[in-house]
Amino acid sequence: MSDKKPEEKEGPVQVLQTPVRLEYVFSAGQSASRLLGAMAKGKLLGQRCPVDGRVYFPSRGSCPQHGVPLDGAPVELADKGTVATYSIVRIPIEKVPLELPYVTVQVVLDGADTVLMHLLKCDVDKVHMGMRVQAKWKPREEWTSSVENILYFEPIDEPDAPYDSFKEHI
Ligand SMILES: [Zn+2]
Repeated sequence: MSDKKPEEKEGPVQVLQTPVRLEYVFSAGQSASRLLGAMAKGKLLGQRCPVDGRVYFPSRGSCPQHGVPLDGAPVELADKGTVATYSIVRIPIEKVPLELPYVTVQVVLDGADTVLMHLLKCDVDKVHMGMRVQAKWKPREEWTSSVENILYFEPIDEPDAPYDSFKEHI
């Protein structure tokens, strides 16, 4: 019989697989509350920087470039936009309503000057920069104060946007 301790016989533990879960309460604040309240009505509200006029969506309530509050009137945006960049995803992630492989996109909504990351329901061989897309909303009776009211974006029958219109977001 060996008198070695278990860790001496088997070596140090190098990998430990264990479930991890974090629960936390998110306080939305004024800016996100406005955005989420509008989402419950099917509206996309951006906020304009008072210094250079850029429209942020989603907005954190202040301009990250100028450090000023975005407290002017909200700007209602279209639920259509242009694909600035994209990625093909080949690993499953919970709650994604698309089959593998699927596409994630950075969309510049019409009227906005920043990108929104979302899903695109599209043949992975067809997605491209400049592609015009539109939001596919959940059925209205399922809307809540959540960005998940938009299931994904879909291509629409419009000519590609010119490169200059989205190049700053690449
Ligand atoms: Zn600014």
